[in-house]
Amino acid sequence: MKILIDNGHGRETAGKRSPDGRLLEWSYNREIASRVVDALTSLGLDAELLVPEDEDISLYERCRRVNRLCLQLGKRNVCLVSIHVNAAGHGDKWYNAEGWCCYTTPGQTAGDVLANFLCQAALQNLAGHRMRFDYTDGDADQEEAFYILRHTACASCLTENGFMDCHRSCDFLLSDEGKAAIVQLHVEGIKAYVDSLNQD
Ligand SMILES: [Zn+2]
Repeated sequence: MKILIDNGHGRETAGKRSPDGRLLEWSYNREIASRVVDALTSLGLDAELLVPEDEDISLYERCRRVNRLCLQLGKRNVCLVSIHVNAAGHGDKWYNAEGWCCYTTPGQTAGDVLANFLCQAALQNLAGHRMRFDYTDGDADQEEAFYILRHTACASCLTENGFMDCHRSCDFLLSDEGKAAIVQLHVEGIKAYVDSLNQD
């Protein structure tokens, strides 16, 4: 299983930041994504960064990279997790929204299975934090037709790891404990997903 970790935005996406400028989403996502890839690799899994560059790589190009691997390896042998930090506004002021969530495209897809494992791992690793789960369709993930989910052939999901424009959430995200929890939930969720496929 080729595990691709996407880190969303690039250096140029200036608006994606905490109001005090301590957390820049492009940079934070990259730190978390690199740590997730390193941890998965040390578990013997085949993980890599979808965007090793610091600059903004277009969604079109990111999807092209994913789909090229899907063609080479078979789409069932590839999965994608795109790591983000949520915001209620545009980096202009503080808000109160908090919580963790995971998105898949609408309907039952391979991404739902992966999302399920990520939601379970989030519950374990973010005890006491708000979970923005949506059970209206029977599972915990949220559904949204994000470009990177819609235009990739493999199992894919997108995580929004707290809110950079909520003071409390931002402090947690920047703490050593917060970073370790966000990394760990991705590692545990992805590992459980890969293990579940190996049992089939
Ligand atoms: Zn984002």
